[in-house]
Amino acid sequence: MKALVLNAIGRGFDFEDVDIATPMGREVLVNVQASGLCHTDLLFATHDIVPTPAVLGHEVAGIVAAVGPDVAQIRVGDHVVGSLAQSCGACARCLSGRSFQCTHPKSTLRRASDAPRLSRNGAGLFQGFGLGGFAERALIHENQLAVVPKELPFAQAALLGCVVDIQPKRLDAAKRFGATDVIDSTTTKPVEAVRDLLPGGADHVFDFVGLKAVAEQGLTMLGVGGGLYLVGVARPDIEIGMNIFNAIGGQKRVQGVNFGSTNAKRDIPMYAELYLQGRMNLDDLVSRKISLRDVNDGYAALKDGSLTRVVVTSF
Ligand SMILES: [Zn+2]
Ligand SMILES: [Zn+2]
Repeated sequence: MKALVLNAIGRGFDFEDVDIATPMGREVLVNVQASGLCHTDLLFATHDIVPTPAVLGHEVAGIVAAVGPDVAQIRVGDHVVGSLAQSCGACARCLSGRSFQCTHPKSTLRRASDAPRLSRNGAGLFQGFGLGGFAERALIHENQLAVVPKELPFAQAALLGCVVDIQPKRLDAAKRFGATDVIDSTTTKPVEAVRDLLPGGADHVFDFVGLKAVAEQGLTMLGVGGGLYLVGVARPDIEIGMNIFNAIGGQKRVQGVNFGSTNAKRDIPMYAELYLQGRMNLDDLVSRKISLRDVNDGYAALKDGSLTRVVVTSF
């Protein structure tokens, strides 16, 4: 099958032939219909985070083509969306509904003694997040897949695996997605502007940018007992400073949010339902559809911020 291979950090993706294994155990073979371009994959392609060669792509939607002998929740023909949250489904955290904090996430992957899911000339390829959506097909553990209604368009469905990746600069887009007030930090001092709107400070601040200055502004915006949620990161080496005296007095919280920290089996079908009811805007997120071989150009086009999201829909 065709797949995009990351052969070396910083060299982009190569369109190549790759072999994919047949499903074993609880694995599901998905014919990929849509695969979103996310900044996380770009971060991985430009920084030394995952081993190479690798097949990335973690916003996957498709049709189930085959299932392993132990698959219980998914059938051939189902429409599915992949989730980056790898969960065993049986540990204390999974059983309490916090599958995104699973203590045995690797149980969704093949053991080192098994043949690799993806290979090229007999040598294994790293499968990003156990998904590998930049390919014609993907072999995924059933715990990482949610079944969605067949009326849901695939491009919109793909984004449900990771809807957090919205270009934060785009204020007009923010309004279309329900923002009541927007502040342009290039023309206004953001901390003062938030204090004007919310004299007591903000209860919750979400940082999708992940730069030191932005996160520290977020901390300053918080009211007493408020929480800063770190959702996005610009580079792996970013650190922030926090004054302990102010943090104690303000009872501030800082919470890392790992890819939405959602329970995918519960939340993805719920988002799909909200979309079909017209209560969640996914259509305006899909600003361009491209083919798999054009992903490098797609990422280049995303850089200037004029596009919201780019999705691969032909393979
Ligand atoms: Zn993503
Ligand atoms: Zn678990």
